[in-house]
Amino acid sequence: MKKVISVLMAVAMLFSVCMLAGCTDNTTNNNEETSTDEDVSLTATSGSMTATEGVLVMATNAAFPPYEYVEGGEFAGIDVEIAGEIAKKLNMKLEIKDIEFGSIVGGVQTGKFDMGMAGMTVTDERLESVNFSTSYATGIQVVIVAEDSAITSLDDLKADGSMKYGVQQDTTGDIYASDTVEKGGYGEDNVIRYKTGADAVQALIAGKVDAVIIDNEPAKSFVAANSGLKILDAEWAVEDYAICIAKENSKLLDAVNNALADLKADGTIDKIVAKYISAE
Ligand code: GLN
Repeated sequence: MKKVISVLMAVAMLFSVCMLAGCTDNTTNNNEETSTDEDVSLTATSGSMTATEGVLVMATNAAFPPYEYVEGGEFAGIDVEIAGEIAKKLNMKLEIKDIEFGSIVGGVQTGKFDMGMAGMTVTDERLESVNFSTSYATGIQVVIVAEDSAITSLDDLKADGSMKYGVQQDTTGDIYASDTVEKGGYGEDNVIRYKTGADAVQALIAGKVDAVIIDNEPAKSFVAANSGLKILDAEWAVEDYAICIAKENSKLLDAVNNALADLKADGTIDKIVAKYISAE
């Protein structure tokens, strides 16, 4: 067993050294060189790791600040920048597709996209369809209410039909809130599903729902951008964010995990996060 592990470690080390070397070689010329040592080693062992060689197609839903959003016609955010760094390490060109959140897992599963990165929580149900990379961030589900709301704690959230909850459809906020009371939810009938978190927040402002359940960082962005709202001082659920990749594409999964490990170790991820999220 020990031997297997040390062989695996040696292979992993060789692989990352090789990727680092390739990366340094190509910092000024990301995609055009196809005959570097790195490319030779990748193709020798794996063929192309992505649908189109040299292109890493990421599916996201760019309405989830500060992880992904559009600013001045450009994609921006933590996930966008981390994905850019991963692509650089793999010597690939990053291409971003902005689609509905609920279509990301299916599109990755069928090979339409190479990976999904969208502040996406690792769940058992999603793991039945796709693999996830190692986690690169913690997500917390929180509750947004009107500033003058009678709801002041999680205990005030009722499942007796007197309250409606707004969520972004197909997110974990939706999945958990729509669940039965026995399983910690409020029942499907009490949940109104919106296309984006921003739409759910607009419904809250219009008084159509009593609370919005959503990830903490976008919640902060939405509350900052709209007056009269607040976030309850409580964690509704704590989750791990990771990148989803098709089950059969273990080569890309390994490469992304290696890249993430390097980016964590050299402080790149912390630096990107700090750019978008101020420490409290
Ligand atoms: N973290 C939540 C989920 O994975 C929401 C992600 C999102 O809306 N982009 O379901």
